[in-house]
Formats: sequence, C-alpha cells, structure tokens
Amino acid sequence: MKTVIMAGGKGTRISSIANDIPKPMIQIEGKPVLEHELECLRDQGFTDIILTVSHLGNVIMDYFGDGTKISPATGKPFGVHIEYYFEEKPLGNAGALFKIKDKLDSDFLLLNADSVFHVDFNRFVDFHREHRGLVTLFTHPNSHPYDSGLIITDQNGAVSQWLTKEDNRPRYYRNRVNAGLHVINPDALNLSGIDADQVGTAGENGKILKVDLDRQILKPLAGTGKMFCYDSPEYVKDMGTPERYASVCADYKAGRILEKNLKHKQKAIFLDRDGTINKYVGFLRNIDEFELTDGAADAVRTINRSGYLAIVVTNQPVVARGEVSFEELEEIHNKMETLLGKEGAYLDAIYFCPHHPDRGYEGERPDLKFDCECRKPKPGMLLKAAKDFNIDLAKSWMVGDGENDVKAGQNAGCQTALIGSKDYGQTVTVSSLKDFADRYLKQEEVL
Ligand SMILES: [Zn+2]
Repeated sequence: MKTVIMAGGKGTRISSIANDIPKPMIQIEGKPVLEHELECLRDQGFTDIILTVSHLGNVIMDYFGDGTKISPATGKPFGVHIEYYFEEKPLGNAGALFKIKDKLDSDFLLLNADSVFHVDFNRFVDFHREHRGLVTLFTHPNSHPYDSGLIITDQNGAVSQWLTKEDNRPRYYRNRVNAGLHVINPDALNLSGIDADQVGTAGENGKILKVDLDRQILKPLAGTGKMFCYDSPEYVKDMGTPERYASVCADYKAGRILEKNLKHKQKAIFLDRDGTINKYVGFLRNIDEFELTDGAADAVRTINRSGYLAIVVTNQPVVARGEVSFEELEEIHNKMETLLGKEGAYLDAIYFCPHHPDRGYEGERPDLKFDCECRKPKPGMLLKAAKDFNIDLAKSWMVGDGENDVKAGQNAGCQTALIGSKDYGQTVTVSSLKDFADRYLKQEEVL
C-alpha cells in the first residue's frame, strides 16, 4: 500500500524554534520528525512513500533523497522508496493528490507530517478493509473537545456528521476528534467532482484553484455511509506550537509515544460508572440526574496522563427493564463525556451491559433478558476491552463502589480498588475515584 505524506506545511507558529527548515525536519532527540515517521512506517511494511513538499521542500529532498541513502542520524539506510511531488505554487493541502492521481490506483494512507504519531498501521488498514468504505478517519478523544472539530457516527460506525470548530454542536456529544491520518480510496477523489486539470490554474475570478482536504473531499462524505472512523488511543499529536513541540519531546524521551502503539501491551484503569464517575442515584433513568462525583474529572485526567487507558465498564440493566432505550443511554454517555471534556479529561472507551437475567417484569425487553457473559461480576466487558486494545489485565485495575466491580476485576485477573469500606477481597480500599488516582497513580508516572 502506498503512503502519501503531506509535508508541505509552512508551520509559522513554530518558527521560533526553526525558521529556515521545514516543519517535518524539526528534530526530536537528534532525528527529524519525518524520519521518525518513516521508520515507524517502514518497520510495519509501508515502504512505498510519496512526499508532497513545497515550502523549503528541497531541504527534505536533499536529506532523504529517494530513500536509499544512509541516514545522517542513524548511519543506516532509510530503507524506503520515496517519490516527491514538489508544489511550485500552493495548491491547498490536498491539491497535490490530484496531480499524482495516476500513481494512486488503490487504497492509500494519507498522513500529515505536521503531527507526531506512532500507530499500528496494519490494524488501521484492516479496519478500513473490513468496513469497505471509501475513507477511514483515524479518530481519538482529546483533552479539549469543546474547541475541537467533532466527528459524529451512526450505529454502524459510519460518519454521519462532520462538525468544524465553528459549527453549532449538540449540547452533549461524544469526545471524538479527527487526528489527520486517513486510509483513502482514490474514488473519494473522483467523487469530489474536482477536475485535476483545473487544480493550480486560475479560475474565472482569477484565483488559483486550491483543494482543501477536509472541506472539499472528506466533509461531503459525511452521511453517505462511505466514510468510517477508527477510534484509537494511540499517540498522534500536533506539534504546531512551541509548547506542543516541547510536550511531544518530553513524551518521546519518556517512551510514551512508542508504548501507546497497540502492537504493545497496554494497561488500563477500568471504571465503574454509577457511584464512581457519577453520583449514585439508584437506577439512573433521567439524564438530568447525571452529575459527576467530586473530583471525578480530576481523577480521569490523572489517568489520562498516567499512561493507563481510561475505560468505563458499566451494568445498565435499565435497558433490559425497558426504562432506558439504547439512544437514551448513548445520550447519557455523551453527557458524561461532555462534562469530563469540559475539564480536560477523556475516556478511551465505554462498555456497557444492557442485559438482565430475571424475566417477568412489565415493560421489559425480552430480547435482553438472559444470563449474559458481560454483566459484572462476570469479566466479559473487561475481556472484550483487553482484546480490543491489547491490554495486559494483570497490570490493570478495576475501580468501583460495589462487590460486582471487585469480583469482575478479580475474575479478569486485574488489581482491584473498592470505593467504600467493605471487604470483598479487593487489593486496595479508597474513599473516591480521586483518592484512588491520587494515591496509586500520581507518584507512579507524571508528565
Ligand atoms: Zn450483558
């Protein structure tokens, strides 16, 4: 599979760090960012590279050549095959794709060299092939969803809405942001209706026709069922400002970029919902009753910075009882993500069990009334998450306020923390989620 890397950005905001070199050549630990990215791709078998360059692109071309040269940083060959498209005049971030269209005859990876990433690309591509869409976006939660563009999907995982920063957003929404990595089928370019011959030429108004990837190619695919998103907790960060660059360098030194690659075993904090993240009100049926517990956002933020994944696992028999629909439950979870997001905290995933074993109640949904494998204290949700995210359960924790939580954690082989005072054989006892995060995470790993 070919990989196209857009390496033409000007990067003015970061010019205080590097004025005379293009942004992808900025170094992290003595090696250009772009070289880190090419190594990541090469090591996973993606060696057929097309770089689109413009501003100071000759610096990139001189350094990498056709990919057979020896790297000045490592003393070893780059080990990839590189072709270039040099933009004489600015074509917008996707204009070059139309100029190299004849080289793109099947699905390709399209990556942005302005961000730093370490991703299991084969896993991403497998997802794309399974879903048979024209485009798959790499999406993730971030610590500032309130001022980020948002991706909203339908029940099949197809993108239904693409909201930019400026668009009106729903009151409650899932924290899901486009990370700028894509698998694209060339038909998506054809569907855009853009005439390759016109790109870069003056239109009727005298303006040069440029192409914006998000606005002209991707956003119009929302709602067509042809674009999917791939949610991943792997490391993808923009380094567009001096502060972000500094934080990326610190992450690199600490090994955090590499370790988040899903090829490596992950560790998670599994979180119960009611009574742990939100205040306990019995069966929560009304979204207005959902309020975070004191310090919950603070605790989740600590988890986010600790290197653990934050994964909710919750029994919601209210669905089987017919008291809350799947749509209402989703809205409640959107409220949870929105409230956490306002405080810079995010969840990597939410798993819920909608089942209940006992039949015979008025209004119940018989299809959900059975003895399932996911209802805590069974470990089904934790085992599913472990499979989805390659989690080492023995290095993970289950935190909750009930016996079911402790037992589910034990049944999955995790360490366990009980919020409360009873003894169910838990590893540790704490007074709140925040107490757990303060005592067992902060000292261990802090940014
Ligand atoms: Zn279940």
